[in-house]
Amino acid sequence: MTSTTTSSTTGAGSSADWQQREAAVFFQAAKRVPLTIMRGEGTAVYDVEGRRYLDFVAGIATNSLGHRHPTVVEAIKAQADTLIHISNVFYSEPQVQLAELLVRHSALDRAWFCNSGAEANEAAIKLARKWGGMHKQGASEIISTENGFHGRTLAAITASGTERYKQPFAPLPGGFVVVPFNDIEAMRAAVTPHTCAILLEPIQGEGGVNLPSAGYLAAVRQLCDEQHILLILDEVQTGVGRTGTLWGYQQYGAEPDIMTLAKGLAGGVPIGAILAKEPVAACFVPGDHGSTFGGNPLATATGYSVLKFVIENDLPAEVARKGERLMRGLHGFEDRHGSIAEVRGKGLLCAVQFSRDIADQVMKQCVERGLLVNMLRANLVRFSPPLTVTDAEIDEALASFEAALKAAE
Ligand SMILES: *Cc1c(COP(=O)(O)O)cnc(C)c1O
Repeated sequence: MTSTTTSSTTGAGSSADWQQREAAVFFQAAKRVPLTIMRGEGTAVYDVEGRRYLDFVAGIATNSLGHRHPTVVEAIKAQADTLIHISNVFYSEPQVQLAELLVRHSALDRAWFCNSGAEANEAAIKLARKWGGMHKQGASEIISTENGFHGRTLAAITASGTERYKQPFAPLPGGFVVVPFNDIEAMRAAVTPHTCAILLEPIQGEGGVNLPSAGYLAAVRQLCDEQHILLILDEVQTGVGRTGTLWGYQQYGAEPDIMTLAKGLAGGVPIGAILAKEPVAACFVPGDHGSTFGGNPLATATGYSVLKFVIENDLPAEVARKGERLMRGLHGFEDRHGSIAEVRGKGLLCAVQFSRDIADQVMKQCVERGLLVNMLRANLVRFSPPLTVTDAEIDEALASFEAALKAAE
């Protein structure tokens, strides 16, 4: 692209201007809502025209403390003013502090940092295979679940149970087996002497906010114990208070051997983490794995401040209470609106499933009324507001959602 006018490359434009410019230069690989967001404040965001929206997407469960939270802003400013990046060939304070906090408040013993959820799962897969090589006669197979989501790298899409994410990108790495979620017999049947790990989310987020059936995760844990298999829990979406406990596994009696985190950990600054029990973590020795940006001082200082805030203010308990308020409100619509097939969720991770494919219309009607929700499927919308959302904002969102539903039906 050689001929651009000054006015098209600089200065303020309308929402539509930016969308036009994007269409000319950007890979068209994402389906976007036609909104150009300019700034955020708490649970609210504002588009370039200055319109306010309640953000019940929150970067897909990533802006855990909302927008422009002083804890996040101060952490970034202070660390930027001190040291943004240093290679992992050196030690840095924030990295150690965040690792200490994670280890102290979880069932895991060691941590390692990267930059995203997919990268954390890649590390988990490598670690499990190294463990299989050292402790289980070279076992390398990983079992995951249909409708699971673990990110977009080749190994992560292979472990994800969604065919259209994988097929165009073949050949895919071998050694992965996918079984239906919530089917312990299928899981048991898939186990072979070559199995080194089972990888799944405590609650399937991207797959539709699918909750584990009673006893399922505990049964998976027991299967792992019996068969000498590692349990990898992908808590990229469910971790850091999202479901009403600090970690999702705490509600299901299924302590993982490896846990992966990302999304909400640093309140919107890119970060990923992998945590593991001592004997598993010990399989990685110097030189086995690495990341240039992973765990840099800026990301870990922010993560440390966010996690500390979440813990010190007992946000998980708040999330449980506020999640009930949101779910109660959504359940209240079921009688009045035949288009709702099911309301489900845990904490502040909820979904409404419709009996018809009206999610797109509902989402658009929500936008019209100043509410952002995430369309997960043609018949499903997800709510994942900041953990700091207020009761009043939940009530406002519920009112907007019902009005949107009426308009879309
Ligand atoms: C979002 C998500 C990922 C991928 O995270 P990225 O940061 O986009 O790579 C992995 N697992 C789960 C459960 C997720 O929700």
